[in-house]
Amino acid sequence: MHNKTLAELSQALRNGECSSLELTQHFLTRIQQHNPTLNCCVSITEEQALEQAKAADQRIQAGTAEALTGIPLIHKDIFCTQGIKTSCGSKMLDNFIAPYNATVVEKLNAAGMVTLGKANMDEFAMGSSNETSYYGPVKNPWDTDRVPGGSSGGSAAAVAARLAPVATGTDTGGSIRQPAALCGITGLKPTYGRVSRYGMIAFASSLDQGGPMTRTAEDAALLLNSMAGFDPRDSTCMDQAVPDYTASLNKDLSGLKIGLPKEYFSHGLSAEMGAALETAIDELKKQGAEVKDISLPNTHLAVPAYYVVAPAECSSNLSRFDGVRFGYRCEAPTDLEDLYKRSRGEGFGAEVKRRIMIGAYALSAGYYDAYYLKAQQLRHLISDDFKQAFTEVDVILGPTSPTPAFNIGEKADDPVTMYLSDIYTIAVNLAGLPGMSIPAGQINGLPVGLQLIGNYFDESRLLNIAHRYQQATTWHQQTPPAFA
Ligand code: GLN
Repeated sequence: MHNKTLAELSQALRNGECSSLELTQHFLTRIQQHNPTLNCCVSITEEQALEQAKAADQRIQAGTAEALTGIPLIHKDIFCTQGIKTSCGSKMLDNFIAPYNATVVEKLNAAGMVTLGKANMDEFAMGSSNETSYYGPVKNPWDTDRVPGGSSGGSAAAVAARLAPVATGTDTGGSIRQPAALCGITGLKPTYGRVSRYGMIAFASSLDQGGPMTRTAEDAALLLNSMAGFDPRDSTCMDQAVPDYTASLNKDLSGLKIGLPKEYFSHGLSAEMGAALETAIDELKKQGAEVKDISLPNTHLAVPAYYVVAPAECSSNLSRFDGVRFGYRCEAPTDLEDLYKRSRGEGFGAEVKRRIMIGAYALSAGYYDAYYLKAQQLRHLISDDFKQAFTEVDVILGPTSPTPAFNIGEKADDPVTMYLSDIYTIAVNLAGLPGMSIPAGQINGLPVGLQLIGNYFDESRLLNIAHRYQQATTWHQQTPPAFA
């Protein structure tokens, strides 16, 4: 049952081959069995899941079910879930029970989905390995000595290990795509403004975007159909109609123009990674796509620009955690200043503090122009590179991550090396474009991700290419041997 995709399970529910209650119980059992090894879930919401499953079964019987009704999922613990702990991977929110649902949660609840639990993640989504979580590292199901990627590492590991058919994630600089690549699943970061950020705990508001983490492009399309759409409670959410993302999945690829940025295929890319991508490109060519060499000349500026903009926004967003209104409060504060200092000092982990300090520095008087403003200018140059590229090609193809999953601890003491894990994903967030990672090979038994970058609101095209690729290949069907 756990090897079926969302699309297949949806069919099975409708045909009466199983009930949502059976499905939910099956996945809850798998979580109980494997979570002690993987540490991918920080909360398991069994009671609510069983209730939602029963309600879903009634809908199925009454004939009012939608495609997602009765399908279990796991939410990244950055999405507020009413009455359920929402920790964002931090000691700061270890005691926080959300009083309302994020729009994404509300929409998926309304579609009849069943929440199995909340996924572990890097603290406040800051990280590329899931090692910054207050709840300890998540293990990669392909090799438990290795990281699953981050920050949506719990979501990626859970889907890869078949502990849930699908999960939600968020991506500020690569946090859906990079863990999807390292765990061998499919992950889509939509265009900025496509999915509501309401109730999604803010890291860097101008970059954050929620999206689906699934095994197949078809499942990502089904999930995005319900996640996307205008929300008056998020002023940056676009009031633009949501197409049916499943409608164009099968469109043939003849005439499709794929751009290969020379900066993505240069010396930084290993020979094995390059070879895996070549094979994938050949498959797309076989289906009628044409490839063209392009250039994104400001690629090297993306990581430095991001590590000014993201910390600046995080320092502002995280100032709300002050020990007064909600979250962690230190023991026996002597005065207000002591309360602020110790609550924040004890509640936040090292990476979060590092970012707050960098951000506060970059925004301070006298430094704003030199750092923040400069970074915003670089952001324009990076967006202009993509604008130019999309006058020549329909889609851009490259690697998702420079390496497959690395060992736990390997980069933990070296923030700069860690930051470079997102070298291929970060520019997409700075420009606000949609990006997707799909499994496209293996190196020494570890999955390799291929990234597709589209023009604004061109998610349908990314899903179409990914689906056609998955119809012709089996990388997305590979299962970590210990979790088959
Ligand atoms: N790894 C990047 C960071 O640490 C991106 C994280 C994300 O996308 N949330 O900031």
